[in-house]
Amino acid sequence: MKFVQDASEFPIKEEYDYIIVGGGTTGCPLAATLSKKFSVLLIERGSEPSKYPSVLNEQQLLNVFTVEDDGKNPFNRFISEDGVENIRGRVLGGSSMINGGVYSRADPEFFRTQLGMQELDMEMVEKAYEWVEEAIVFKPSLNLWQGAFRRFLVEGGVEPDNGFDLRDDVGTKISGSIFDENGTRHGAVELLNKAQPTNLKVAVQAIVQRILFSGLSANGVLYSDSKGKLHTAYIRKEGEIIVSAGAIGSPQLLLLSGIGPKSYLSSLQLPVVLHQPHVGQSMMDYPRFGYVLAWPFPLSFTSSKVIGISQNKTFYFQSIASTTPLSIPPLFSIFPPNSTSLTTTSLATIGGKFSKVASTGSLRLNSSADAASNPIVRFNYYSHPADVAMCVKGVRKVGGFLKTQTVENIKTRDLEGNKTIQFVGLPLPGNLSDDSAVGEFCKKTVTLYWHYHGGCLVGKVVDGNYSVIGVKNLRVLDGSTFAVSPGSNPTATLMMLAR
Ligand SMILES: Cc1cc2nc3c(=O)[nH]c(=O)nc-3n(C[C@H](O)[C@H](O)[C@H](O)COP(=O)(O)OP(=O)(O)OC[C@H]3O[C@@H](n4cnc5c(N)ncnc54)[C@H](O)[C@@H]3O)c2cc1C
Repeated sequence: MKFVQDASEFPIKEEYDYIIVGGGTTGCPLAATLSKKFSVLLIERGSEPSKYPSVLNEQQLLNVFTVEDDGKNPFNRFISEDGVENIRGRVLGGSSMINGGVYSRADPEFFRTQLGMQELDMEMVEKAYEWVEEAIVFKPSLNLWQGAFRRFLVEGGVEPDNGFDLRDDVGTKISGSIFDENGTRHGAVELLNKAQPTNLKVAVQAIVQRILFSGLSANGVLYSDSKGKLHTAYIRKEGEIIVSAGAIGSPQLLLLSGIGPKSYLSSLQLPVVLHQPHVGQSMMDYPRFGYVLAWPFPLSFTSSKVIGISQNKTFYFQSIASTTPLSIPPLFSIFPPNSTSLTTTSLATIGGKFSKVASTGSLRLNSSADAASNPIVRFNYYSHPADVAMCVKGVRKVGGFLKTQTVENIKTRDLEGNKTIQFVGLPLPGNLSDDSAVGEFCKKTVTLYWHYHGGCLVGKVVDGNYSVIGVKNLRVLDGSTFAVSPGSNPTATLMMLAR
């Protein structure tokens, strides 16, 4: 793409109609859309994905957990204060370039209750989803494992079988995928192909250090390039800055720019532009519950392609499988620590998340108050009893899947000839009706779907038009604005909203 250039080649000072911070899942479709009518600068701290071809290949998806974070590659790791290792994208296309590729729309209820949209807007929503889907979404063909998973969801009562479906309907479905039939990823970066190229400039390897203000009006950004040189970009009259740096990056940048709790910012000697107590608050993440099974037969690697949506959309179930050996650091817990030494041939995770998390946490700057390093975040997994109660119910449900005929058919025999299932890591509690044993199991096996959100919520930090409350010319649009993550997986809806 000709309009993508290393930031070091950009002028020291420039002017645009719109400046978008973060060339991620939301930032790319936003830039493509706005460029049709306006001049746009999109600023991304990572490089182009072509520099890291492994991110484009589904079979190398697990690299996300194995490749070291050298501060430059696409895999930006962080460990929350809860002690759970986590990850975010640092590449043009953002987390859509390192994620599991599941593409699934939101529940229409999400637009009404979370976004305050009226019926009328739904036509626009539909068109915006389609704009994304015609470019980067594929109908996956199921390999043996995903086929089996689909059967045992249906046999386990997650009905009806809705076949291939992008919608968020109760039942079991083959979801959309941003991996094509050859396993090539088509992330948000490809939506830049829809831009008006003469109106768009994309600066990569450019870290926005802070938003610049004149009084309470945002008027530009200060960013550094890979050589440490500082650049400024300003907006023209009527222009705007839109922060799409993700649920970790957006609250971080607002705090660095002086929008946050006054006493906190003052304690860090940061100039205060606006006292805003909600920035960095209400950080939420979904703990994944479930188990890992080992099989003596080979299973080719497969990211998740089938989704089970329970009655009332209380739970979402997904599964991935891989051949051993794996060398995933234990903290990630996709597969438990002893997985690598197993003599079995394949592993499969059966997991679920519940649709609403009650536990919330917060985000603050680290001591260097530097945009290039991770802020400190805490999600307080299972601190709210409602989440434990939901997990207990969810574990019972996934436990029930083990009683299905499909699982019965693929059980293996132990030395005494009994049919068994081999759990890897912590097995499911023997008595699933024991609330406290199952609750303990939930707390001991926190793994993730990486659907963390919050930090700049609608109604608290931004208004219904995503404008930052209390200042002019500044919006935030990305996962940080969500109080609930849409549907089973958020990518589809973030891209749709950007459009
Ligand atoms: C391992 C993993 C698997 C997942 N699997 C799925 C899945 O299968 N399906 C699904 O729908 N969702 C999945 N998700 C979640 C989904 O990918 C994210 O919720 C979504 O991509 C977030 O989009 P965003 O626009 O909010 O942020 P991002 O896409 O992360 O974009 C933020 C961008 O801002 C840039 N940035 C941050 N700070 C700055 C700064 N100061 N200056 C310049 N640039 C900056 C970042 O580099 C990044 O590119 C997964 C996530 C992960 C990590």
